Amino acid sequence: MNACVFCDLIEAGDALVADRPAAAAFLPRSPLAPGHTLVVPRRHVVDMFAAEDEDLAATMQLAREVAGALRDVAGAQGVNLLHASGEAAEQSVFHLHFHVVPRWSDDNFTTWPSGRSGRAGDAAPEHRLRRALELP
Ligand SMILES: [Zn+2]
Repeated sequence: MNACVFCDLIEAGDALVADRPAAAAFLPRSPLAPGHTLVVPRRHVVDMFAAEDEDLAATMQLAREVAGALRDVAGAQGVNLLHASGEAAEQSVFHLHFHVVPRWSDDNFTTWPSGRSGRAGDAAPEHRLRRALELP
């Protein structure tokens, strides 16, 4: 038993739908849509801020594979990739994960937020972001 439910799932292995050297995938308990899949790095890492580049790359590569499988097997016409890093972003399980949610043009739901942040002001002006991201 680990302190992390996702590490337990990876270790047990029987719930996985994909297993790669650095990433794994499994179905959530409460799927948003048929085929909704979670993709995680095998190594326990809390969120994207703490992730090593190779864990992120492996997880994204597997997310793409899962998306392709959902298209091929379930007839998905598209996917949404959902992610939260940090409590303020409503992350609920603190093992980095991405939701791959299959979409169909007639599925009658949206994963796009309809509201706007209540945060006032300009928390990250464009010029400060450019400097932080090394764009002159
Ligand atoms: Zn974990």
